Amino acid sequence: SSGSREHSSAVATHCPYCALQCGMTLRADASGKVEVAPRDFPTNRGGLCQKGWTAAELLDHPDRLRTPLIHGEPATWAEAYDFIVGKIRDVQRDHGRDAVAVFGGGGLTNEKAYALGKFARIALRTKNIDYNGRFCMSSAAAAGMRAFGIDRGLPFPLADVGKAKTLLLVGANVAETMPPFARYLTEQRELPGATQIVIDPRATPTARNATLHLQPTPGTDLALANGLLHIAVAEGLIDSEYLDDRTTGFDDVRKLVAEYWPARVERLTGVPIADLEQAARALSDGPAIILTARGAEQHAKGVDTVSAFINLALALGLPGRPGSGYGCLTGQGNGQGGREHGQKADQLPGYRKIDDPAAREHVAAVWGVDPADLPGPGRSAYELLDSLGEDVKALLVFGSNPVVSAPNAVHVEKRLRNLDLLVVCDFVRSETAQLADVVLPTAQWAEEDGTMTNLEGRVLRRKALREPPPGTGTDLAVLAELAHRLGPGTDAVRANGGLPTSARFDSDPRAVFEELRRASAGGLADYAGVTWERVDAEDGVFWPCPSVDRAGTPRLFEERFAHPDGRARLIAVDHRPAVEEPDAEYPLYLTTGRLLAQYQSGAQTRRIEPLARVAGSAFVELHPDLAARLDISQDQLVRVTSRRGEMTAPARLTESIRPDTVFAPFHFAGRQRVNSLTSPALDPISRMPEFKVCAVKVEPVPAR
Ligand code: SF4
Repeated sequence: SSGSREHSSAVATHCPYCALQCGMTLRADASGKVEVAPRDFPTNRGGLCQKGWTAAELLDHPDRLRTPLIHGEPATWAEAYDFIVGKIRDVQRDHGRDAVAVFGGGGLTNEKAYALGKFARIALRTKNIDYNGRFCMSSAAAAGMRAFGIDRGLPFPLADVGKAKTLLLVGANVAETMPPFARYLTEQRELPGATQIVIDPRATPTARNATLHLQPTPGTDLALANGLLHIAVAEGLIDSEYLDDRTTGFDDVRKLVAEYWPARVERLTGVPIADLEQAARALSDGPAIILTARGAEQHAKGVDTVSAFINLALALGLPGRPGSGYGCLTGQGNGQGGREHGQKADQLPGYRKIDDPAAREHVAAVWGVDPADLPGPGRSAYELLDSLGEDVKALLVFGSNPVVSAPNAVHVEKRLRNLDLLVVCDFVRSETAQLADVVLPTAQWAEEDGTMTNLEGRVLRRKALREPPPGTGTDLAVLAELAHRLGPGTDAVRANGGLPTSARFDSDPRAVFEELRRASAGGLADYAGVTWERVDAEDGVFWPCPSVDRAGTPRLFEERFAHPDGRARLIAVDHRPAVEEPDAEYPLYLTTGRLLAQYQSGAQTRRIEPLARVAGSAFVELHPDLAARLDISQDQLVRVTSRRGEMTAPARLTESIRPDTVFAPFHFAGRQRVNSLTSPALDPISRMPEFKVCAVKVEPVPAR
């Protein structure tokens, strides 16, 4: 708990869910009931979606956990800690320290993401830590890093989106996923001569509002981007001066895209040549912004697909120019901060690489340990889940529900059941918590302080309105207590050299943030100059912010890119088919996505009655022509099967989807879990699974 500190009856804070991190005010009435009101903040301008409006309903929900559980039975905290530490000790003694792994989440505060990475590396001394952000934005992160030498989702403030003459959204359905964002889309469409282009295999609400909707075959966005660049080159629309002054690599890209002539791209993608030409011309006419999201990124070629759109942006001279550029729309609440502070398998705080000797030295000094004792890179999220029960015997999960959100979920669930120890920290009994040996009941967002970094790279403050309820604890307190118990004196840790007495784990979020500032200093994501006071006074602070007497950095790349030579890199990337294409047995594409009234694995939002009333269960979208061919009628129960599993849900007939593709939302569990079907094929660079394309068959379920 955060101690005996008094909390006021109203606080200015942010929504617990997505990366827009809308401003909201929380107020407790005399009975303690918490009310949400929208608050004007630069990102949401006073707007909130249904999820934000109803977020407080979970605080006193009957499903809320108020005591630790051991094998489903109530236990004391002391019993739970004894159980966990005893098992960790056994596992590390018998199987080595990497046999214990940690799985984090992109919704955890910066302080928690930081503490989790530190806990894994110096309390458990395991290399095996990764997090669910690997399933979210890792492809865009890797492509941004490769092109620009730094990865910040939007390298400009969100408000720029409303000012671009041309806007291209690739696989982004913000009208449903981040409704307050749609104001910027409306603003942009109303500019004189504006064009708004959406690339999406579905005619989503976002696509329907656009001036131009390109509806490619799933898995062909890369070819589409190369085709747009081909047209821009052929029609003399590229910015040669910019390419000469600020980039390298265009010659190879030009040679490659020469092969993406419009008729070929039309055949590969299904997008008509006239639409391709219209899009390419619009993008080269005035300030333009290209934004990618999960639709482009969740592929086994996700990094290359994003690179193809960055190539296009660079060839048109967009990044670093006012009202122009490329950005990625991060999804999870702290999707940005969650990828900077060391909960990734290959990373140390400050967005440093774990195998970089200088990075190890800096971070080890902050942590009070010997750099030689820091483990090296561990396994990526899916590879980690896939190894459970083999050489990894114990897993600690914070802020994630992989039973619903991981690909190939039938297999992942089996793996989770094979562990010697599964510990889940959560405030409800999520599907993953239901498999756990120990569940630790945690505080919710309105009950602890912390910082989040939104999709713009703006560091924000989450503020506690009230104390965590009796029986619950914060994630930071759990990590501090476990680290303390695993400290010098326990067999497991002594055998591994012991936790140095100089290494501290603080449960106070402010103290953790102060340490995070020092650990990040000099790194790419430099928070050294960010203080909680500045965050309050300045409506958030954009990183990098290397010192307290310097302003943050709302716009990157105005003068130079972050590679040592200051130049951006274009990378020649060739189209390749999805790892699993439809065939005679599984003749259709399956693609997945989100709904307005649900968030991620749904562990939270499925429990909120007003949201469940709007979107309480899954469905399968089919084109009416396909439905007729399969003899399926509206609302009829259908079974969708892939090589890995099946789901059943009612059919929803809609012209908004291609006749060769079916869609299902991924928020649901049990028989409605679409991730039972999805493919674990991984991108070779980002290790992102191919959520957005696999091959399926669909059949009506006979009425009994
Ligand atoms: Fe805003 Fe996202 Fe929360 Fe909706 S879920 S209120 S869009 S932060």
